[in-house]
Amino acid sequence: MYHPETIKRREVARNLGESLAALVKRGHESPTHAAQVKAQVLGLVLAETQSAEQLARDYEKACKRYLKTVIQVRGIPFGTVVSIRDGPEEPGLVSCTGDLSKKEFNVLLPHLKATVTGSTSRYLDQASRYRAYQVTQFTQLLEDFIQRIPPQGTRDKEFSKQITVIKTAAKDLMQWDRLFGILKQTSLVSDIDYLFKLRDNPIAAIWHYNQMDEDVEPPFTSKHRELDHKIFTVRGNVCIERGLMNTGAGFIDASPRPKQELGCLCDFQYLYNLRDLPEALLTEKGKRELRGANRGWRRWFGAAS
Ligand SMILES: [Zn+2]
Repeated sequence: MYHPETIKRREVARNLGESLAALVKRGHESPTHAAQVKAQVLGLVLAETQSAEQLARDYEKACKRYLKTVIQVRGIPFGTVVSIRDGPEEPGLVSCTGDLSKKEFNVLLPHLKATVTGSTSRYLDQASRYRAYQVTQFTQLLEDFIQRIPPQGTRDKEFSKQITVIKTAAKDLMQWDRLFGILKQTSLVSDIDYLFKLRDNPIAAIWHYNQMDEDVEPPFTSKHRELDHKIFTVRGNVCIERGLMNTGAGFIDASPRPKQELGCLCDFQYLYNLRDLPEALLTEKGKRELRGANRGWRRWFGAAS
């Protein structure tokens, strides 16, 4: 038995297929006929297409539930934002980001709240752009098809094949929110994870580009290839304070981060040690300090052997 929404989408696809088939067979019955069919088909499809605003409202509720669980375990709980449901708190839920005291967690809490707020507003913006793009693509497909129909009608089988393509595209558009949800699934968790990572005092992070970014339409992450291997530094870290390193491509907190943009599968590799940095990021003082540390290391092993 199919889900009622699936049945509804199939019914809409069948109805629009019949309208387009009639137009192909009989041709334009009046000068405004084609425009009327186009408006009717679009109306049918859009009536079953979730709005970006509603989707963002649902996401905000899911985020608040997720934040509640983060507060409950004082860390990132096992599971993802979409798996946290309404109802009694999960008794066995534990943090997978280590133990934080209540005092430590309270320092982090305002940042967590700000992250959730930022994530929900970004979500609405991205959902609006993504939905608008999908609607434009479908409208274009429909317009192109209608324009090709001869005014007197035709029995050319090629048009029937095209109608099948349009029906599939209509079903995809009516489910845009599902694909969008999948693309955004790791976004909030990744942002929250970043806050917990800062607790371990990294000094920088290397951006690792993921080729799969290019498979997402529209290409929101088209500039991420340029970020591959760029190093972003943590503001006020101990090596910067001591003048051992420079700021690289910029500070993490003032730069984009992986997974924030729609469809981004890039990653940060956090660095915790001066010796992990490329030489270009070290100051002269940093290079001297590292040479000194290496000498000490060799002496120690020399003495121990
Ligand atoms: Zn990316």
